[in-house]
Amino acid sequence: MSYSLKAQKVIKDNHLKINNYSKTLDLYLTSDDFNALLIDEYAKINYVFKQDFFKKTNILLEKNYTAEQINYIFEYLSDSNIDKLLTIDYVDILPFCQIPNLDVLKIPAYLDYQKKENIALKDAVTFVNLHLDTNFYENVETIKNPDDILVLVNKYHALDSNYVPNDLVYISNTSYKMRKEAAINLESLIARASLDNRKLAPFSAYRSYEYQKNLYENYLKKDGLELVDSYSARPGHSEHQTGLACDIKSFGYIDNVSDSDYLWLLNNAYLDGFIIRYLKDKSYITGYKEEPWHLRYVGKEAAKIIKEENITFDEYYDLYVIKR
Ligand SMILES: [Zn+2]
Repeated sequence: MSYSLKAQKVIKDNHLKINNYSKTLDLYLTSDDFNALLIDEYAKINYVFKQDFFKKTNILLEKNYTAEQINYIFEYLSDSNIDKLLTIDYVDILPFCQIPNLDVLKIPAYLDYQKKENIALKDAVTFVNLHLDTNFYENVETIKNPDDILVLVNKYHALDSNYVPNDLVYISNTSYKMRKEAAINLESLIARASLDNRKLAPFSAYRSYEYQKNLYENYLKKDGLELVDSYSARPGHSEHQTGLACDIKSFGYIDNVSDSDYLWLLNNAYLDGFIIRYLKDKSYITGYKEEPWHLRYVGKEAAKIIKEENITFDEYYDLYVIKR
């Protein structure tokens, strides 16, 4: 490969010394963003067809990013993360480049949290994104997509007090309601269980904001705040308000499942798009004690990934649902 005629003219007119061919340099030579002092760096940077590639590369070089780092930045970071990177001081970006749920502006917080908790960087990224570096119920956001099947309701994300799903139906042969898609799949799950001689039945499903408010306030009359928060959601923070959650019991039980049915649910609920939302070893993420009876409908695709990767729905949401 040789330099374009236009580039050759720039080289000659400016008496530049260039040994090897580089596509990036070739294009730079004839662009308005060409800076003769950066020739050696340009030559080491892989050309990427992106808007304002030359301008952005110049800014990164001015911030002292190396050619190697710049190659990683353009290969792995999303456009929005690259734009954010241009607005902040130099950071050691290489350890972060391949983390899919990275938000460049949170890098200082990721590093603080990683150091404090002594965990892998990719976990620090997810946990900070989930706000686990702040206390539960601090900085609560109102949910903007309450009708999405993949809506995230937790101690940092609250449903509006007026939110009521518009497609609630009765789960067959019960007095409990869920959103239509969730109800159909719950009926399928119950039928699947009965093929295995298991008798499962819901004992709670959709609950209104007001209902949850009364429930939570009644618990507070007998238990302290900290204890109540470990087993009951504050109003607006309950998945039951979405119409996508259901509490299920085994035959002969009042408000729980048998150990055997629990094991069966752990292995089979995903086939109908359900997950066990609050697992024992995930309390530090969800903020709730283990709830073997609480099922959340997320759809089959999400349920399969959550089971296979042994992650919470909170993590799934951050890794797979949010676009960055
Ligand atoms: Zn529940």
